[in-house]
Amino acid sequence: MSADSTYTEMNPEPDAELAPEPEAGVEPEPEPEAGVEPEPEPENELDPETAARRDAALAQIRSFGDPVLRTKARPIERFDDELREEVFRMGRLMDDAIGVGLAATQVGVVHRLLVYRVQQQGELAALVNPEIEWAGRDTESMEEGCLSLPGVLVDVDRPIHVRVRAKNEYGEPILIEASGLEARVIQHEIDHLDGVLILDRTSRDQRKEAMRVLREGQQAA
Ligand code: ZN
Repeated sequence: MSADSTYTEMNPEPDAELAPEPEAGVEPEPEPEAGVEPEPEPENELDPETAARRDAALAQIRSFGDPVLRTKARPIERFDDELREEVFRMGRLMDDAIGVGLAATQVGVVHRLLVYRVQQQGELAALVNPEIEWAGRDTESMEEGCLSLPGVLVDVDRPIHVRVRAKNEYGEPILIEASGLEARVIQHEIDHLDGVLILDRTSRDQRKEAMRVLREGQQAA
């Protein structure tokens, strides 16, 4: 055996953690980054009050198995106080849940609204009727979590750069050029508005494992 014949991408070594998917040109993440929505771990570090607030928020967020998560949301036509109140409530719920993004379908409202905030001190962004107008060819794989899928983290490959057209909660047109985490969050939340979950965008093996985690979580609840 020559030295250069010992490595093959197709070799399903059980401990070959660096080669879960043969993605051409995409470097595996050297270390797991924070998930898109919740961090699964910080519960251990949260003070009791924050943890209780988080649990209360999560209880208001629809979780896997709820058919609303598989529903395609309809466009919003009215930009009124009710919509702005909804943006405010969703932002608060997202913060309490310690998430960085939330789609209306996750709270059982089937219209095209999402909120997100990628920088802790940043302003809450609300996108109404968002459309991905352009997505770059470069993609990267990153671990994502979802407030609707407690305990699940899976690798999801997505375009790194996107341009998104939307309206804000006042009906004003906005154009966002996003990269990295912001682009990822927006794509994750738009997926929710189309009834798509990260389970649909990961490998078969990771989906299987995620389903096991979800089943066990539901039995424990
Ligand atoms: Zn999600």
